[in-house]
Amino acid sequence: MAFEGLAERLQSTIKKITGKGKVSEQDVKEMAREVRLALLEADVNYKVVKDLIKRIRERAVGQEVMESLTPGQQVIKVVKEELTELMGGEQSKIAVSDRPPTVIMMVGLQGAGKTTTSGKLANLLRKKHNRSPLLVACDIYRPAAIKQLETLGKQLDMPVFSLGTDTNPVEIAAKALEKAKADHHDYVIIDTAGRLHVDGDLMAELTEMKEKVQPDEIFLVVDAMTGQDAVNVAESFNEQLDITGVILTKLDGDTRGGAALSIKAVTDKPIKFAGMGEKLDQLEAFHPERMASRILGMGDVLSLIEKAQETVNEKQAKELEEKMRTMSFTFDDFLEQMDQVKKMGPLDELISMLPGANKMKGLKNIQVDEKQLSHVEAIIQSMTKQERQDPSIINSSRKKRIAKGSGTTVSQVNRLLKQFNEMKKMMKQMTQVQKGKKKGKGMK
Ligand code: GDP
Repeated sequence: MAFEGLAERLQSTIKKITGKGKVSEQDVKEMAREVRLALLEADVNYKVVKDLIKRIRERAVGQEVMESLTPGQQVIKVVKEELTELMGGEQSKIAVSDRPPTVIMMVGLQGAGKTTTSGKLANLLRKKHNRSPLLVACDIYRPAAIKQLETLGKQLDMPVFSLGTDTNPVEIAAKALEKAKADHHDYVIIDTAGRLHVDGDLMAELTEMKEKVQPDEIFLVVDAMTGQDAVNVAESFNEQLDITGVILTKLDGDTRGGAALSIKAVTDKPIKFAGMGEKLDQLEAFHPERMASRILGMGDVLSLIEKAQETVNEKQAKELEEKMRTMSFTFDDFLEQMDQVKKMGPLDELISMLPGANKMKGLKNIQVDEKQLSHVEAIIQSMTKQERQDPSIINSSRKKRIAKGSGTTVSQVNRLLKQFNEMKKMMKQMTQVQKGKKKGKGMK
């Protein structure tokens, strides 16, 4: 996960000041110094750091803090607000043209993740916003890129417009627009060509395309792993094309996060989305405030809730509640639950969104053992239908069979059965408490 080092340093700095009932100018000075070092180490642009620290110091020693009841917390609030502001303040929404289709040009260097992100964005627009996008392959210099987009289109069951490698990209884009209008697509996502470096020919082509198709958005896709280079690339693309937003990819990787924290300040263009993995559903709207919260160890509960809402539908949740109440929760339900949690994303990513996750030693060092989960799954899948419904019939010969079928051991099977029983017991207690409450008895 990105920002880990930065988060750790900032959090230990902040811890020192949190409980303080009184914050002296010296305290603020020391904190500002440490925040400055942490940011520089995270590869945040030098000038950006300088301005940010200046603002934090001014605000932290000013009226705002002195008048507050708990100055320590107030200082942290200032740091959080400034970090949020640094990353763009409000979350920036994607444009919607009042004369559809809305046209989006995806630009960026080769390998930044442009093609993948085009697919991800189309997927997100359809899934979350109920839109019907048309993907357009304009990287005629790399036939593999066209193929890649077509493959993504197939995976997503989404149309891809391409005219091969012999037509001029500007022409392809213009034709795609006509096609989108005729077929009533409301978004057009153009995957343009990339180069290894910022290059005059490419810029000329992109500028010509921009004039021709009049895009509503020009998204620059940059690789967060490239640190300060990402910031430089953003600066040159912005100068030449006047981009409307940035999509940062590979934020799931081990990046120091400096790019995310500098791009808005340097280009004055918002980060609109963040790529959090290679899969097609791993693109998230970028929320500066939530990101600042995450960096400062305050968690990102809102994103967690959103993820849960996306994967768990209300009807299923109600059914589950009913099963818990009537004690008819079975291994089949258990399997389904695991599936839903898995759909929310990798477990360590989910844990990183919990408040204080960085600070809890146990949690931080938790190696979320996805393998162990797959063992659990294999064990349940090796049970017969009857066994899943009524685990009490699982005797020792059945246990042996299940262990063999799932490639595990009898003691692993025993452990799971025990855990399942305990879980049921807990559910029973919980539902009894609730019933008690309903009857007005409550717990004493
Ligand atoms: P393009 O040359 O800019 O079109 O880049 P591609 O779309 O071909 O992506 C280059 C590589 O980066 C591919 O292997 C992608 O799977 C990978 N990639 C793209 N976005 C992400 C992301 O958010 N996280 C991770 N881990 N990999 C990504």
